[in-house]
Amino acid sequence: MSNCIFCNMASGEMACDKLYEDEHIFVIKDIRPKAEVHLLVIPKKHLPSLWDVQDEDNRLLGYINVSLKNFAKEQGLEGFRVIVNAGEKAGQEVFHLHYHVLGGSYLPGFK
Ligand code: 5GP
Ligand code: ZN
Repeated sequence: MSNCIFCNMASGEMACDKLYEDEHIFVIKDIRPKAEVHLLVIPKKHLPSLWDVQDEDNRLLGYINVSLKNFAKEQGLEGFRVIVNAGEKAGQEVFHLHYHVLGGSYLPGFK
């Protein structure tokens, strides 16, 4: 989708610093970090949100889940939190599915 910022990053049309990239996903640092470490793990496939995933996306979602710990480990984290906002009412701003990976010394309380 040409008007989607994360699609444009995935294709290389928009420059960004990718910490990791393969054929399915890429990882960037969030531009407005909410914790000491705040990564975005982004599938290259344009899925607007978790509301839109289908059975055919199971492999991709599984792949992301299995990969998350590697990115957390690379950042030196001993614990990490994953947040996915689905829909405007949940605070989603970018309508291309992405996983927030948060951790580090000023991870805010969440209970
Ligand atoms: P959402 O609120 O949709 O779950 O999260 C979108 C996230 O994308 C926000 O945390 C925001 O800071 C981040 N973001 C938006 N635009 C950019 C950008 O151009 N570069 C990077 N690295 N992050 C962005
Ligand atoms: Zn997109």
